[in-house]
Amino acid sequence: MEYQDFFTSALERLQAERRYRVFADIERLAGRFPDAIWHSPEGKRPITVWCSNDYLGMGQNRDVTRAMAETAWRLGTGAGGTRNISGNSHPMVELEAELADLHGKEAGLVFTSGYVSNQTGIATLAKLIPNCLILSDALNHNSMIEGVRQSGCDKVIFRHNDLAHLEELLQAAGERPKLIVFESVYSMDGDISPLHAICDLAERYNAMTYLDEVHAVGMYGARGGGIAEREGAMHRVDVIEGTLGKAFGVMGGYITGTRAVTDAVRSFAPGFIFTTALPPAIAAAATASIRHLKASDAERQKQQRQVARTKAVLTGAGLPVLETATHIIPVMVGDAEACKAACDRLMDKHSIYIQPINYPTVPKGTERLRVTAGPFHTDAHIDALAAALVEVWTALGLPLQPKAQAAE
Ligand code: PMP
Repeated sequence: MEYQDFFTSALERLQAERRYRVFADIERLAGRFPDAIWHSPEGKRPITVWCSNDYLGMGQNRDVTRAMAETAWRLGTGAGGTRNISGNSHPMVELEAELADLHGKEAGLVFTSGYVSNQTGIATLAKLIPNCLILSDALNHNSMIEGVRQSGCDKVIFRHNDLAHLEELLQAAGERPKLIVFESVYSMDGDISPLHAICDLAERYNAMTYLDEVHAVGMYGARGGGIAEREGAMHRVDVIEGTLGKAFGVMGGYITGTRAVTDAVRSFAPGFIFTTALPPAIAAAATASIRHLKASDAERQKQQRQVARTKAVLTGAGLPVLETATHIIPVMVGDAEACKAACDRLMDKHSIYIQPINYPTVPKGTERLRVTAGPFHTDAHIDALAAALVEVWTALGLPLQPKAQAAE
């Protein structure tokens, strides 16, 4: 038996389905984003990035990079171990207080990533609720699905954002304890959940709520508290989870809630207990970013303007843009091979970098390009993107909307 063959044949299957992933090797130069350098097989090439989740460019913000560098000089690089063994770094204590304040909660608890926050947070909370039934939205992120699985609790899946279905399942569950897990902004379709209506149901059927705001924190609400802040629903949601790695531009994830919630997760969650804490420099940079976005609306406003312009220009060019109420701009392809070919051509011919999004990130047949416009994309960048996409769509024989064809 050749063990290596198991792995190579699995990879060959991926390649046959055109789902084998290739990541571009790029350098995002601070201060020059979205212009970046691609280390292509043929050498270095300048490119424009259109697929960053550093949505507001905060990873390049001077206050944030300075906080990280200065803290590393002052306190060193690592946290020195798990918190159970080595205690809290002071920047981590400050960060957790900042997060609790951001979401109007008693306490915050930071993990090494948003993924871990969901996985270990949901699993731990649900396990501590006797006979808990988890009600999970059909489009929840993999990290939440893993959390639900690891809890070992009974689960039911409600159709995406379907209040009638959720209510039916809540009703059928009877008196037992119930935990509803859902997101605010869904990352691939860019739609928003009906927060207040879900909270109404949770109140009516006495369920606890756990909300993933990973794609909304920093981006929505007057202080960047997410969709729940924007809609005045923060106090109605029991646990708000977020990432420090997207709009805040750094790394790490967190939950916020009552002190009992964060203390229970701190005390029982393996994904918290048994892993080295984030470095103090990361915590300090995240705090600087959160503070900046609490006080400043400028990045959000500029980004929203560029998102609206990008949607309008791409749609006007006849590209199949999925309409969304958020900053996420899916351009639909519907086929894994064509999706990859479109991205390859965009990079090779137009020096534009967008990763193809295919199964299992999205269902088969809904493969797409996921375009993210930031405050740093200029009008000229947007126009160049539209022209490049139209060239690629035409070259690959992908359908453009009739309006654009008539205009050609
Ligand atoms: N939740 C959602 C909805 C996500 O899309 C992601 C990551 N893309 C995560 C959680 C995980 O967050 P992180 O990247 O910080 O691990």
